[in-house]
Amino acid sequence: MSKILIARGTVITHDKTGIINDGAVLISGDSIEKVGSTKDLLSEEYDYFIDASDMLIMPGMINAHTHLYSALARGISLKDAPPENFVQILERLWWKLDKVLTDEDVYYSALVGLTDCIKAGTTTILDHHASPYAIPGSLDLMAKAMKYAGLRGSLCYEVSDRDGHEKAMEGIEENVRFAEKIKGDKLLRAHFGLHAAFTLSDETLKRCKEASRDLDIGFHIHVAEDKADQDYSIEKYGERVIERLERLGILGHKTIAVHCIHINEKEMEILKNTDTIAVHNPQSNMNNAVGTAQVLKLFEKGIMLGLGSDGFGASVFDEIRAANLVHKIINSKSTVAYAEIPAMALKNNPSIVERFFQCKIGTLTEGSCADIILVKYIPPTPLTVSNFWGHVIFGIAGAKVDTTIVGGKVLMRDGVLTTVDEKSVRQKSTLLAEKLWERF
Ligand SMILES: [Zn+2]
Repeated sequence: MSKILIARGTVITHDKTGIINDGAVLISGDSIEKVGSTKDLLSEEYDYFIDASDMLIMPGMINAHTHLYSALARGISLKDAPPENFVQILERLWWKLDKVLTDEDVYYSALVGLTDCIKAGTTTILDHHASPYAIPGSLDLMAKAMKYAGLRGSLCYEVSDRDGHEKAMEGIEENVRFAEKIKGDKLLRAHFGLHAAFTLSDETLKRCKEASRDLDIGFHIHVAEDKADQDYSIEKYGERVIERLERLGILGHKTIAVHCIHINEKEMEILKNTDTIAVHNPQSNMNNAVGTAQVLKLFEKGIMLGLGSDGFGASVFDEIRAANLVHKIINSKSTVAYAEIPAMALKNNPSIVERFFQCKIGTLTEGSCADIILVKYIPPTPLTVSNFWGHVIFGIAGAKVDTTIVGGKVLMRDGVLTTVDEKSVRQKSTLLAEKLWERF
């Protein structure tokens, strides 16, 4: 089994050890064999050495909700009038874009997004995919891109009735087929993707529930991202979104309820009682002007709340900074969310991923997955366990990621990608985007 020794850096273990100055991590195969001082670990046998001088050695970052398919929309011009609300954003941008995605677009947009992840130090993503006129095999193309880039993650296809019954059935079929196909894979998992309650009938949701019965996977669905989702549910079904999802058996330990902005206390209780995962996406929420999740209340209730980007970007560090700011401003209190944001990003995101992967993640400790990043950061002030978060917000989050390792495989070293040929991917994606924008 190939061994990598990373040494002479500052190890941030995110476990009870805390911080090891002049520390080292020994990787054996896909997991961590030892963590300790450089002096102690230099005597170990290894095949490959990484000098982490002037760098932090820390666990890779996890993005608990994203959309790789959005990558080719960067810089696109809308042909309609600018959208003025959330539903118009969907109708005039995303539901027009996803309809013209081809198989090739799906593959290359995934590669563009994954390249950005590696460069940002994001080692695991939970993706939510849509391409209604290129559904069959779309998750295989995403998986091919994931395997080529080398990231860990979960994939799903978002079932929706918005493009008619046939497309909804194709989406169900794609989720089931893919989930069965990747059983036992080392780095990939599947979810059962659902767009959002307001584009799914009871009948379709019942079919999804039935189709997922033997798969042992959770659902991945947008929940109350905008008030429109609640209004629709109350008007048509006489119940709130989370009440409806509970009635239809969609919630649970492995289900991801994304956003959960416009939910009330009762819905929070349901999330808690069903042990459903919620995911906060601050930059996307601000960009779409839909509001923001009641993070403090969700924490008070004891809900497993993670942090994602919703496709806004690849950097979890950017989401951390945004989350740190937005709750201070909406609560008019500068001390707000000082504990909740690090808990979401550094503790809950790993706990969420551990619900799907049978490995320890998010810590640098013996036996953990070897998902590790090296960040160029020489602390200008004392760096301790108790002030680490201050360093993250005001320094580390903006520092350069030098090396990214997933499952013991080096995906970037000295800022150079080792798996993806970034230049050729970007040349190809630019050509594809030009054609996509013409069809849009
Ligand atoms: Zn989303």
